[in-house]
Amino acid sequence: MSLKLEKLKLLCLIQVCLTNKLYVYLHKIIRMAKRILTPKTRNSGTMTESAFWSFIRSGLRQKSRWWKPISECKTKAKRIYKGPLKRQKFEYQCNQCKDWFPDKKINIDHIVPAGTLTCAQDLPGFVERLFCEVDNLQCLCTDCHDIKTQLENGRRKRNRKNLNK
Ligand SMILES: [Zn+2]
Repeated sequence: MSLKLEKLKLLCLIQVCLTNKLYVYLHKIIRMAKRILTPKTRNSGTMTESAFWSFIRSGLRQKSRWWKPISECKTKAKRIYKGPLKRQKFEYQCNQCKDWFPDKKINIDHIVPAGTLTCAQDLPGFVERLFCEVDNLQCLCTDCHDIKTQLENGRRKRNRKNLNK
């Protein structure tokens, strides 16, 4: 939809909401307004800054799948499986709970997290931390990895709040 049309649609929506006292839709209006008003500065005027950086971030993350230290870390945590499951050949040890898990239940985790990538200043640090050597990597089971991710996200949110104060 063109910007002009979107603005028109937004104005109509505001009008309808106000005349009918439909204040429940206000948050929807605010979200729409934010989207329209955020300038699309990238990719021939089709991407906002944040969309652009998320595009770069996911591209770099994709490349990190072929990063050798990651498979090296996985090999280090691997042993031959001797349990009852016929199809499972190997199992991997979680560095946190020290239990053993099948391939599907493990994640290779960055001990020092790669962190955020939301602007050009973040780029050198992000690349440096994402493409790290094996000493900054550990094998975690999905449960331990989820807990760590939640803790990191919580910390990041708190930091952002403190910055805004
Ligand atoms: Zn674990």
